[in-house]
Amino acid sequence: MQKRNKLITCANCKQLKRYWARDLCSRCYVASLRAADRQYYKRGLLDSKQRSQRNRQTLIQLLGGKCACNEPDCWHKGLCGIDDIRLLQFDHILGGGSREDEEMGTPAMYLYYLKHLEEAKRKLQLLCANCNWLKRYRYREFSKVGRPKKMQNTRI
Ligand SMILES: [Zn+2]
Ligand SMILES: [Zn+2]
Ligand SMILES: [Zn+2]
Repeated sequence: MQKRNKLITCANCKQLKRYWARDLCSRCYVASLRAADRQYYKRGLLDSKQRSQRNRQTLIQLLGGKCACNEPDCWHKGLCGIDDIRLLQFDHILGGGSREDEEMGTPAMYLYYLKHLEEAKRKLQLLCANCNWLKRYRYREFSKVGRPKKMQNTRI
């Protein structure tokens, strides 16, 4: 039975309004759709965050799973070898273009290097936060802090 445009008491705003759908007036119905969208969007974001974390962990494992620093002037003696995944960062072995540097640690970067593993092994090493900081200090490799830009294909 077509109830649309009959006067009803809207289940949300409790006002006498023309029926639209689901016991709601048109305004409340549209608002409820937007709220559902937001929920869906939030869930989607969470899922992609989890996926990105999994990709990060996989990439770390594939790159050896521990800090590769063996610099004689570093804070540790011999190989650093820190394997706490929370402390590990991706570092460009040969320094790197500043644009690509800004993308180190983005979900798009994890995906890209998982798909281009040989390139990842050639270009990236794992460093713990301490060693990475000291390396930057050593080589004055401070990156210009900026907002991460969209990943582009950086294969050369
Ligand atoms: Zn309403
Ligand atoms: Zn280290
Ligand atoms: Zn080190």
